[in-house]
Amino acid sequence: MKAKNYKRTTCRLCESDNVELAVPLEPIPLTEKYLMEDQLNEECHLYAIDLYMCRECGHVQIFDCIDPNVLWDDFTFRSGQAQVIVDHLHDVAEKTFQKYKIKSSALAVDVGSNDGTLLQGFKKQGMNVLGVDPAETIAKEAIEAGVPTIIDFLTLDLAKDIVQKNGKANVVCCFNAFAHSDQLNDLARSIEGLLAPDGIFVFEVQYLVDIIDGLVLGAVIHEHLSHHSVKPMQQFLERNGMELISVERNHFQGGSFIGVAQLKGGPREIEKNVPEYINYEVQRGFDQPELIRKFSDRLISLREEMADLIKKWHEEGATIAGYGAARSGPTLTAQFKFGKDISFIVDDHPQKVNRYSPGDKIKVLPTKELYSRMPKYTIILAWVHAKKIIIDNMEYLKNGGHFVLCCPEVKVIDIQNWEEELKELSAKEEILCLAKN
Ligand SMILES: [Zn+2]
Repeated sequence: MKAKNYKRTTCRLCESDNVELAVPLEPIPLTEKYLMEDQLNEECHLYAIDLYMCRECGHVQIFDCIDPNVLWDDFTFRSGQAQVIVDHLHDVAEKTFQKYKIKSSALAVDVGSNDGTLLQGFKKQGMNVLGVDPAETIAKEAIEAGVPTIIDFLTLDLAKDIVQKNGKANVVCCFNAFAHSDQLNDLARSIEGLLAPDGIFVFEVQYLVDIIDGLVLGAVIHEHLSHHSVKPMQQFLERNGMELISVERNHFQGGSFIGVAQLKGGPREIEKNVPEYINYEVQRGFDQPELIRKFSDRLISLREEMADLIKKWHEEGATIAGYGAARSGPTLTAQFKFGKDISFIVDDHPQKVNRYSPGDKIKVLPTKELYSRMPKYTIILAWVHAKKIIIDNMEYLKNGGHFVLCCPEVKVIDIQNWEEELKELSAKEEILCLAKN
């Protein structure tokens, strides 16, 4: 069934129509919709995912929007499912609480609160917490785990209602959900309405600079309507009654930044990292489409490099598998056009095993099949977990298997070179950590 969709024509942040196509990409299926056996004969629709840039404010975004009810109805991601995410979010809660001297009885509201993991962190600091999330199943799990959650999208009316019942919030969070809304101005105004005069708005978004530099193709999916950078974000917050007071970069999800804002004229000083990041982006040209266009050129050359390798592997008679049935998988296979070359994907996620990838309809098998079938080459589709996948599957390399990374460079990893390659992957993460202020 074709999902309801629409195409916007103006910038999501500043509403200018001075926008241009910066990166044309291959259309992709809805990447979270892994298919059951009985859906295999249904026609699979592909939807445009081209990246546009606003000439006015520099915001990079997709214009092709899918009905959020369809996109999110069987959302399977839970923050609490990976310890590294739990640690990260609890660390953010603790540091925010201490740095901004928040009172322990104050209210923290999380927009897009998922399973309540971030709010559990604020709860540990003694704060009152309230989640807002439209994903019913996951929100109910949060409620059961002791995090009160309103099952809905945040709107101006809902914000007013929350303030009436709970008072204003001293902390409002929006972690990795600020890229999900097509109505960002409404969302920002709702957040502004929730904030107490000395309150702070803390958000985390994937960083455009890292997406472009690292060619993080997995980030280019319909759930991510926006690819944020500091300069357009600062102007956007300003137009919605807030000011950005701090920016901190981290290597979460291939590279993100955490921004902190307060109401305009609020009590806190603007840290020097805000103008520093804006200058950095301008100097490198991240506010111009010319730089973003290089993303296409690099993708085309990587695609050709992969196609040559795959041709050679087919000539050897080798089997090629994929590792990871995440959302990033179908977008990677679509952009690299190697879906037809992959015999099967391995992943242990209970909602993915024995299903088929959308688009290419590649069967997902449990990870133990990597050992019983021993494909000679396994392309890592879950790019952000590459290091863990390699470390956890040393036996596969010892038995003669190869892991293949296709972004941001093509790498074929075997038992001879894995240590060196892992060091390089770690070094990249460290560079991003050093970039933290
Ligand atoms: Zn704009």
